[in-house]
Amino acid sequence: MSQINIQPSCADDFDPESLSVREALQRIDNMAIPVTGYERIALRSALGRVLADTMTSPINVPAHTNSAMDGYAMRAADLPTEGVNELTIIGTALAGQPFYGAVESGTAVRIMTGAVLPEGADCVVMQERVELHDDRIRVGTGNKKGQNIRHAGEDLAKGDTVLESGRVLTAADLGVLASLGIAEVRVWRRLRVAFFSTGDELRSIGEPLEAGQIYDSNRYTLYGMLARLGIDVIDMGVVRDQQEALRQAFHEAARNADAIITSGGVSVGEADFVKNILTDLGQVSFWKIAMKPGRPMAFGQIGNAMFFGLPGNPVSVMVTFYEFVQPALRRMMGQTHIDTVTFKVPCATRLRKRAGRTEFQRGILERQGDGSLWVRGMGYQGSGILSAMSQANCIIVLPEEGGSVEVGTLVEVQPFEGLT
Ligand code: AMP
Ligand code: MG
Repeated sequence: MSQINIQPSCADDFDPESLSVREALQRIDNMAIPVTGYERIALRSALGRVLADTMTSPINVPAHTNSAMDGYAMRAADLPTEGVNELTIIGTALAGQPFYGAVESGTAVRIMTGAVLPEGADCVVMQERVELHDDRIRVGTGNKKGQNIRHAGEDLAKGDTVLESGRVLTAADLGVLASLGIAEVRVWRRLRVAFFSTGDELRSIGEPLEAGQIYDSNRYTLYGMLARLGIDVIDMGVVRDQQEALRQAFHEAARNADAIITSGGVSVGEADFVKNILTDLGQVSFWKIAMKPGRPMAFGQIGNAMFFGLPGNPVSVMVTFYEFVQPALRRMMGQTHIDTVTFKVPCATRLRKRAGRTEFQRGILERQGDGSLWVRGMGYQGSGILSAMSQANCIIVLPEEGGSVEVGTLVEVQPFEGLT
């Protein structure tokens, strides 16, 4: 009986000319330069935008030394070292309504949280720690000079650097700028990114599917990932695998956008076709990257726009976007701190992995009964299985050198969500 060897071979996938993930990142990083152009906008509109100026404080925050407690402002010299001292209340200081007199020896001022500390006072005793008798208070031991006082400029001193340019403004940053009385900031202009899908099998939502056709999902994941970065998107739809249609689409995208992202059409079977058009229109290199998913990728420049040709598989699109495109776009947007958040946790499942390529597997980070954080692999790691990406909450990054991962091994994860 004759036998046909139908076992798949790993050799199909091995290519000594493959770029490592690190090399690919380095090359992209070298080409991504910030766009020019800024705008001045109101503070609230600046949430999530990239700050274009380093901000220094025009004032002290807090502006005045004030009380951190509801209580009584007094001179520390009047605090008893033993027994009890009696002080006369000579007035009240409320937040926004200072007491204008001075605290002399033997006197105290009723003071509320946030009220300016009156002249002469150098400590505040909490109201719970005094006995009140008409206009007099009795104070015991256990208090000390400087207690319950917030000093002028202790949060920010006049002239201090408050926020560095190139940072994405957070909710806390808006609050900090508001505390300085700053109403407007200069930010980098929004980045414009055009994208389209290629493939004769693709239909847009709303069109009926015929045999062999699928809905275009990549334009929706791309839209979502770009919108989250605060980018203006230009959705150019599905472009047929036709010379003239593709040429026109690239041409139009390059005219209107800072960057162009396409999906599909860069795999071995299709590359030549697209290659001709792209080498005509710009400088584009076709890469095989030692990674899974997302091995083929095209990258370069068309006109003034940066070009990212991503693979067609839906999971590959997302992974190559997060790993390569997002850092480049963030640099183009003017961001200076673009490190992806990663940390290591023990792995709760065995992960199959081949040495010689970086693998980006889908995982679920979850707390165990004892409160410790572990990650488990999703099982389905196929690059077409988009539902696994939707259920996952992190990417598990398995480095090029390593093989399969046993239960309990520490692995690096990139969580999808953070606190802010
Ligand atoms: P390609 O890279 O063009 O060979 O595509 C690889 C696989 O991804 C094929 O199964 C395609 O049908 C699929 N694919 C390509 N583009 C898309 C898209 N926009 N939405 C969903 N699947 C796609
Ligand atoms: Mg295709």
